[in-house]
Amino acid sequence: MENDCIFCKIIAGDIPADIIYQDDDLLAFNDINPQAPKHFLVIPRQHIKGPVAIGAAEEVIMGKILRKGAELARDQGIEEGFRLVINNGESAGQTVFHIHLHVLGGRVMHWPPG
Ligand code: 5GP
Ligand code: ZN
Repeated sequence: MENDCIFCKIIAGDIPADIIYQDDDLLAFNDINPQAPKHFLVIPRQHIKGPVAIGAAEEVIMGKILRKGAELARDQGIEEGFRLVINNGESAGQTVFHIHLHVLGGRVMHWPPG
């Protein structure tokens, strides 16, 4: 657990979250400020700062996150069309420096993203 990391606090149960799935490796919960009718985050229990911090040791957990994100998208009824996003760095919109996969769906997604 990283001090002052809001997602580590959610993992520890210190901050409440609307958790939709959890196992030994990862956690999925609804975003507090949804940008689509369905918007949830999939995070590793392990504190990884962001995509640039992914090393060989993190390849397996990142694969699990991607697979679980798609599986949960299907469970949540948005399999027809959903967007997976991982922001890296402040200028890309990263505000929480514990890696998280955004899963967004339930509306038409536009391209390119802003
Ligand atoms: P980022 O901008 O870093 O890619 O995404 C961070 C996301 O985490 C944002 O969509 C934001 O709404 C969400 N978020 C930030 N704090 C909390 C929180 O305490 N609980 C939940 N459920 N989501 C949060
Ligand atoms: Zn963390």
